[in-house]
Amino acid sequence: MTTDDEKQTTPALRFGKAWDYAPAPETTPVPLRKSYGLFLDGEFVAPRSGKTFWSINPATGKRLARIAQAGEADVDRAVKAARRARDGAWGKMPAAERGKYLFRIARMIQEKARELAILESMDGGKPIKESRDVDLPLVAAHFFHYAGWADKLDYAFPGRKPRPLGVAGQVIPWNFPLLMAAWKIAPALACGNTVVIKPAETTSISILHLARIFQEAGLPEGVVNIVTGAGEVGAAVVEHPDIDKVAFTGSTEVGKKIAAAVAGTRKKLTLELGGKAANIVFEDAPIDQAVEGIINGIFFNQGHVCCAGSRLFVQESVADTVIRKLQDRMQTLIVGDPLDKNTDIGAINSKPQLEKIEYYLKVGKEEGAELWQPSCPVPDNGFFCRPTLFLNATQSHRIVQEEIFGPVLAVQTFRTPEEGIAKANNTPYGLSGGVWTDKGSKIFKVTSKIRAGVLWANTYNKFDPGSPFGGYKESGMGREGGLHGLKEYVSLN
Ligand code: NAP
Ligand code: MG
Repeated sequence: MTTDDEKQTTPALRFGKAWDYAPAPETTPVPLRKSYGLFLDGEFVAPRSGKTFWSINPATGKRLARIAQAGEADVDRAVKAARRARDGAWGKMPAAERGKYLFRIARMIQEKARELAILESMDGGKPIKESRDVDLPLVAAHFFHYAGWADKLDYAFPGRKPRPLGVAGQVIPWNFPLLMAAWKIAPALACGNTVVIKPAETTSISILHLARIFQEAGLPEGVVNIVTGAGEVGAAVVEHPDIDKVAFTGSTEVGKKIAAAVAGTRKKLTLELGGKAANIVFEDAPIDQAVEGIINGIFFNQGHVCCAGSRLFVQESVADTVIRKLQDRMQTLIVGDPLDKNTDIGAINSKPQLEKIEYYLKVGKEEGAELWQPSCPVPDNGFFCRPTLFLNATQSHRIVQEEIFGPVLAVQTFRTPEEGIAKANNTPYGLSGGVWTDKGSKIFKVTSKIRAGVLWANTYNKFDPGSPFGGYKESGMGREGGLHGLKEYVSLN
């Protein structure tokens, strides 16, 4: 017998792709350079270390550009330049003038959004529709948002005397290279600080093009300095004695090292770390919207999202329907060229990350969960991974407890709201989560008991520069975005 649900889904969608799309690659030319220097004191310079490394295109495994590798002497130059700017032009500038620079930068990001999106997808592997429609608009929005705050700090903190902290040392990951740069640079500058920032080794290119925008905008030299290289460059920034504030986004493992390095110093610290978010779907949820939200939450951007909904809890009475619809939708996902406008799932950011995901696929099977993947084609070259469901997962499985950071979803069921809440909270992380139900009262009841910094109701992965973002437990401390994010860059004493 065919159920009403099944009638609504066409057989083509149930058993494969509904259409074959012709390739639609992004062909806009981009100003990719053969090599990139460090951005110090307003200029691109060769590293004193004399060393370079290659940035790879993860969709092909081929070299894209040669990047300068900073040494300790370069980090020191960067911090000195930032200090000079803080004590000089930037520190003396009226707040409204600072705001004008940020507005100018925001507008220039919008003008160059297309080429920045392409560079982001080439170097990082994320689908162009994500970098073009999500990352870049949010990058510009963050600069606009904080531009507006620059001359209103006294109103942001009434009765207090907000003062800049000084030089901020910032370290960011590879999953949202430009967006994480915007989250860190925009509030720091709005509050009158200067910056030394280190991007992730695999994704240095787009932020160096942002540096060209800083140059074109006439941002005074030394206000933002970019030191590229591997983890030890990040450690050198964090440990530099003349840094006043450390802001880190990345893994919980590195976050703990940074917290230890900063302990006992005067440095102010914010940490945005890993996550293992739960999507909780109740039987009264709008099922089709929930399925779309689950797909968006874990498969778009290859699951390279700290707040990815990597655990799914479905109320038992609708579990079969939700899983079947999820599998139908997964059959239609297109894995492939990040620069193709039809691609849903691009390249895994690096070979080590692909190996980590493949390791967890093995672990999940060994632990006894049931692996399911759609039959979609996957490119032979480059680093790609099929979207994956693990059915019949249990709370003790490592694939349920540990952050995989790939397109892998562990599915479990629950009977009562209390059971769903308890299972969702059973993780060392507390970054984000999603609740799907028709009842407003249930949304409030459940979300008030989930220990996570960001919770979405009947939607997922929605961001706004005005709203704070950050975690509880091992997902970090401090907030970015909005007024809360501003507070992390001022002294109020
Ligand atoms: P990661 O390995 O912790 O690296 C993050 C950054 O820290 C990179 O620039 C890295 O450099 C650098 N680094 C490595 N070791 C360091 C050290 N000892 N001292 C200072 N810096 C060091 O994380 P990832 O693999 O790039 O990114 C994925 C992680 O970020 C996930 O856990 C994800 O959940 C988290 N994340 C969290 C948020 C959030 O807002 N909560 C947002 C995005 C991502 P190299 O890359 O060159 O090694
Ligand atoms: Mg790369």
